[in-house]
Amino acid sequence: MRIDRFMSLQAGVSRRDVKLMLAQKRITIDGVVAQDSQHVIDAFSHVRFDNQILQDNTPRYVMMNKPVGVVSATKDEQHQTVIDLLDGDDRSGLHIVGRLDLNSSGLLLLTNDSRWSRRLMDPKNKVTKVYRVTLEKPLTDEYISAFADGMYFGYEDITTQPAKLKIVSEYVAEVSLVEGRYHQIKRMFGRFRNPVLALHRERIGQLLLDPELKPGGSRALSQDEACQIS
Ligand code: URA
Repeated sequence: MRIDRFMSLQAGVSRRDVKLMLAQKRITIDGVVAQDSQHVIDAFSHVRFDNQILQDNTPRYVMMNKPVGVVSATKDEQHQTVIDLLDGDDRSGLHIVGRLDLNSSGLLLLTNDSRWSRRLMDPKNKVTKVYRVTLEKPLTDEYISAFADGMYFGYEDITTQPAKLKIVSEYVAEVSLVEGRYHQIKRMFGRFRNPVLALHRERIGQLLLDPELKPGGSRALSQDEACQIS
């Protein structure tokens, strides 16, 4: 957003007056005196007017070990939400990056940086998500090729992107996806009439679930982790 639009929304100042304020060197962006009314700022630009803070958001990135039975939403009438599991001070402005179903567990990311979450979730960027899946019936090699070939979902009229399935043991598979369709893994195993008993996300991009985090636990990502993930 341009600084003149930001000032008119935040401080009710007309564009002409913004030009005057800029000429009077009364507006700073990220500590530097702003000069151009077309200067573009984002949600994390620090903006001051006459030394008064107008915007001072810090990007935040949080990793959680989502427990089963907690809903991936910011509000819910029936269930505890992942936001309820965070300390009060840590909650504001966060949104979820790639939900997990109520009965799924594992790595969940939250942030206030919508550009970061859009980048992570955009299927074009092919960020791999890795899940450990426990099934009711034994796995066979047939599953590997069916997942790799993609499956047609009539409801959305799409074919899933190639997915990697590794058989870990008779009833346990590791599945890697580069997209996140509604109940995708359950529906894919549903083609084999093989119900999913447990679904745990272990990795997103380069980022592994911190083994120190107990179910329901969370911690901030370092700047490096947030940058390296995709
Ligand atoms: N696929 C599912 O079916 N459920 C999840 O929670 C994640 C992927």
